Amino acid sequence: MAKYKVNIDKDTCIGCGVCASICPENWFMDEDGKAMYLSVDSDVDCNKDAVENCPTGSITVEEAG
Ligand code: SF4
Repeated sequence: MAKYKVNIDKDTCIGCGVCASICPENWFMDEDGKAMYLSVDSDVDCNKDAVENCPTGSITVEEAG
């Protein structure tokens, strides 16, 4: 199973909730209204769906082997 290193730019996140909706295995909406990941090293494939569907490009996912 692939491993991903995820990151988020909270400065550009608009808090739309799409990532938490399509990838709840690793994303949730934080108290500040911005998205946050559950784990920086995550093996769930929906991290990639979160990247593709984030309207502001705030999420980055790097395959970590
Ligand atoms: S999809 Fe992007 S803009 Fe929307 S809450 Fe998630 S990180 Fe923020």
